[in-house]
Amino acid sequence: MRKKIVAGNWKMNKTHSEAIELVSGIVDSSYDKSVQLILVPPSIYAAEIEEITSDGDISVGVQNSSQFESGAYTGELSASMIKSIGAQYVLVGHSERREYFNETNEMLSKKVNQLLLNDLIPIFCCGEVLEEREKENHFNLIKDQLNEGLFHLDSTQILNCVIAYEPVWAIGTGVTASSSQAQEMHQFIRGLLVVKYGNEIAEKISILYGGSCKPSNAKELFSNPDVDGGLIGGASLVSTDFIAIANSF
Ligand code: PEP
Repeated sequence: MRKKIVAGNWKMNKTHSEAIELVSGIVDSSYDKSVQLILVPPSIYAAEIEEITSDGDISVGVQNSSQFESGAYTGELSASMIKSIGAQYVLVGHSERREYFNETNEMLSKKVNQLLLNDLIPIFCCGEVLEEREKENHFNLIKDQLNEGLFHLDSTQILNCVIAYEPVWAIGTGVTASSSQAQEMHQFIRGLLVVKYGNEIAEKISILYGGSCKPSNAKELFSNPDVDGGLIGGASLVSTDFIAIANSF
């Protein structure tokens, strides 16, 4: 059985008190314990949120990490630092990082390596912009992103990764991929995993959908055989919405 996961990417939102209020709302809610909940707050709050959630089943992630091990890289966070505060997951290659911070697949592959060296789980994001989909180039593009950023890993390493498919045209826009568009791409990604790593490994890797996922559409999206959960942006900022999504399997 693959892990069902709902991860909340808070992006650059919430003051400290708002962040603590949001975590409390989530911790105090009842949700399906077979679902792994991951909170991905701004890094400045991650250690405290890790402490608040440490006696429960909720995990903490951060939104970005350095491709370098340590040293004179002002403003960066290394994988070993992230590990040392108890976080377990790190987003890699979110489309906003690719677009606004010029992150390339080559950089992302180095970030993935640093994370695995430090026993952290990368949530590797891939996704196409609308123009690529309109040109019917979206499958090629996703294949390239995975080949260049993630598929250098060996079979043992890939088992410690999560993949998130996030069509860029659906992120923060209110436009969600249809359930069949999501399944089609998730099935394609699993097919790539089968070719590269074999069926047994491919069946174990969780592939999350991201892009305007909310309580009203999560159930339909999660009912697809290759959609193992969601990476949630806007709707993860409201505890009741986030929990409703977690209860949508
Ligand atoms: C995201 O940023 O990963 C995301 C999916 O955002 P939203 O849910 O707001 O579209």
